[in-house]
Amino acid sequence: MQFRNFKMVSYVVFGRGCFNQLDEIIAPHRKNNAPFIFLIDHVFEGKPLTERIPLRSNDKILFADVTHEPKTKQVDAIAQQLKDEFGTISGIVGIGGGSTLDLAKAVSLMMNNPGSSADYQGWDLVKKAGVYKVGIPTLSGTGAEVSRTTVLTGPTRKLGMNSDFTPFDQIILDPELIKNAPANQRFYTGMDCYIHCIESLEGTYLNEFSKSYGDKALQLCRYIFLEKDVWDDECDDKLMMASYAGGMSIAYSQVGVAHAVSYGLSYLLGTKHGIGNCIVMNHLEEYYPEGQKEFKRMVEKGGYEIPQGICKGLTDKQFDTMINVSLGMKPLWENALGKNWESIMTREKLRALYEKL
Ligand code: NAD
Ligand code: ZN
Repeated sequence: MQFRNFKMVSYVVFGRGCFNQLDEIIAPHRKNNAPFIFLIDHVFEGKPLTERIPLRSNDKILFADVTHEPKTKQVDAIAQQLKDEFGTISGIVGIGGGSTLDLAKAVSLMMNNPGSSADYQGWDLVKKAGVYKVGIPTLSGTGAEVSRTTVLTGPTRKLGMNSDFTPFDQIILDPELIKNAPANQRFYTGMDCYIHCIESLEGTYLNEFSKSYGDKALQLCRYIFLEKDVWDDECDDKLMMASYAGGMSIAYSQVGVAHAVSYGLSYLLGTKHGIGNCIVMNHLEEYYPEGQKEFKRMVEKGGYEIPQGICKGLTDKQFDTMINVSLGMKPLWENALGKNWESIMTREKLRALYEKL
């Protein structure tokens, strides 16, 4: 048996207002004339958070357009722009939701690796460390702040750059930054964490490392989404830690059916990760009976909107595309259904599931 020896985030700071330590934290990483790049979710353009960025000398703010989930083209363009303008940079600080965090990780890697980010979609293809990178979440749930991947849509597939060089060197977890997220968005991203827990805890890859973190994240999700009647600061604190623990849980296991099916939606229809997982989880009574019931209670309690009927009117060819993308996620299916998953999740069965969404 070969156990996975994985790289984690090197430094973590947690606390309300810890964003104020950013200047001090990155100071030792400044190199000569090489600037720091602050890649900020475009939702913060003109907002007070942008004024709090500790800009020095030739540092630069770039706003990340996250209208769509990150693409390899977008990563390549940002990295090229920075190489053309500065040659090299001291580091990159990603501030935003999972999309911006993933962009920042990928741009960091592409500052030091040749070719296109599409060349590195897969497992352990990245050969050199990227530039110093910092992640600062403004939404919680994806676990992108702790993971060893950055999910990118490329010319031929949606797949992460999974490598030991991918995790952040530093993350800054300040619950004040997620405070003003719109309730529906907060829920979709929060449910990404809840679904990570269910998929990891119900999966065949589970071990005690994964289970310990998964149990904790699940307990936090239940408290904030089922027990609390009003969303307050405590909920933000707990959601931020749930995302961290949920990410740690899947670091040593894998996600499952909701993610595998949701990847197909995302590839064909551009459905975003959080909401896509929710759309699928809503119909997974056969695979996660308890989890699906509890998920529905959370939706009901908060009065959130989960779209229905998104696959209506699709052609056979379109269903085939989604099925191909989904069945391509082999480790996810194996984790969910075991080694003989192919005989359980047939194309017909998956088609019937897509038709229900
Ligand atoms: P997101 O980053 O896509 O952002 C969703 C929306 O919320 C955007 O419009 C954004 O501008 C806005 N937003 C962000 N912070 C806000 C705030 N504080 N207030 C108001 N609006 C805000 O959403 P997400 O759910 O955090 O991330 C999803 C992305 O994460 C997907 O691209 C997915 O592939 C990726 N992901 C990565 C991993 C990983 O391990 N690397 C894991 C899961 C998901
Ligand atoms: Zn996810």
